[in-house]
Amino acid sequence: MPVDPLTPEQREIRDLVRDLARERIAPRAAEIDKSAEFPWDVVELYRENDIFGIMFDEEYGGIGASSLMTLVAVEEVSKVCATSGLIIAVQELGSLGIKLAGNTSQKERFLPNLASGEWLAAYALTEPGSGSDSAAMRTTARADNGEYVLSGGKRFITNAGVAHLYVVFAKTDPDAGHSGITAFVVEADTPGFEVGRIEPKMGIKGSTTGEIFFNDCRIPTANRLGEEGEGFKIAMRILDRSRPGIGAQGLGLAQGATDYALEYAKSRETMGKPIGEHQLIAGMLADMETKCEAARGLLYKCGQLIDEGADGADLTKISAMAKLYCTDVAMDVTTDAVQILGGYGYIQEYPVERMMRDAKITQIYEGTNQVQRLVIAREMLKENRAFLLAGVG
Ligand SMILES: Cc1cc2nc3c(=O)[nH]c(=O)nc-3n(C[C@H](O)[C@H](O)[C@H](O)COP(=O)(O)OP(=O)(O)OC[C@H]3O[C@@H](n4cnc5c(N)ncnc54)[C@H](O)[C@@H]3O)c2cc1C
Repeated sequence: MPVDPLTPEQREIRDLVRDLARERIAPRAAEIDKSAEFPWDVVELYRENDIFGIMFDEEYGGIGASSLMTLVAVEEVSKVCATSGLIIAVQELGSLGIKLAGNTSQKERFLPNLASGEWLAAYALTEPGSGSDSAAMRTTARADNGEYVLSGGKRFITNAGVAHLYVVFAKTDPDAGHSGITAFVVEADTPGFEVGRIEPKMGIKGSTTGEIFFNDCRIPTANRLGEEGEGFKIAMRILDRSRPGIGAQGLGLAQGATDYALEYAKSRETMGKPIGEHQLIAGMLADMETKCEAARGLLYKCGQLIDEGADGADLTKISAMAKLYCTDVAMDVTTDAVQILGGYGYIQEYPVERMMRDAKITQIYEGTNQVQRLVIAREMLKENRAFLLAGVG
């Protein structure tokens, strides 16, 4: 067994989540995929077992605000059901803006209901004309009589229609590019807030992905996160801490697929022996396991750094690397798992085809993997490593 970097207390939490995942979520995974319905029963299971509490401080009703343990929880659940793993990751994504930029009164108003899971959260940055290029957003927030009037819409928002609270980014100064963006908390019962089309998708089918519209929604100034113009910085600080959650979803998918392919390779026989004893299959299994273990090392290191208070450029780089590597591993490894199962890998009776479909989105959302590469290279280009080359002629 690989060396376990978790403390005994952390292992207890992991084992609780692992048991819930195996016993209660795994039997639902195929049905969630087939029905494409949001799994409220899984949310209820999380509420009953304080799973959302993992990511919140005790003073706001949580059990201790550990980023590492949030990643471990997403990983464990995603081994059996990536839709259910995403529910945990997006609760963190949607709450981070309040944790990082909220004032005490905002934290007291919003966090306890998020920690208990009474409310689900969402993060609304993307628009039809603005995905990788977030400064191109067109949603506006106009100051008016001590309130803001929010107009426009967002697309591809996870938890659209099931979230109570949306952290929304809008232009308060449309001519100021990144510096003209401001962040707001928008509650679903705000007059003028509307949920549009929910998209049918290739994978993570039980998760809702949809449009939301702001038809002149009046938002109290008390719901603005940070100052006017700080929205882009807040959005990026959130992503530095949430991208590893997508890495954890990818790692869970990769490890789940590896475990399934391994068991299959022990029992399926061709040419007089289990396929796992054919060297080409054995080599694939070894590569899959090695990639998962390497991905886990990077991901957990990133979680530990967040828990130790890492911020700024150092965090940006490792968080992008963890997201990039874990999710590229997810795509590679789930594809190999389908190959190991042969024809059975391609049919819906076996879970690996679902895992392969689910893995694809992890390379796309929260910044595509092309964007992660740009981020990592940009940080590298800022570093001064000249001293390493001293004496190299
Ligand atoms: C299922 C799902 C859930 C989502 N959930 C959310 C959510 O909860 N909240 C939210 O705000 N958004 C969400 N998104 C949006 C997601 O983050 C965006 O789709 C993603 O960031 C890419 O933006 P885009 O689709 O506009 O692609 P584009 O930005 O149009 O990119 C198209 C292609 O060009 C590449 N590309 C773009 N710019 C560059 C560049 N400078 N250099 C090299 N390559 C480049 C991209 O990598 C991509 O391959 C979700 C999307 C999906 C599909």
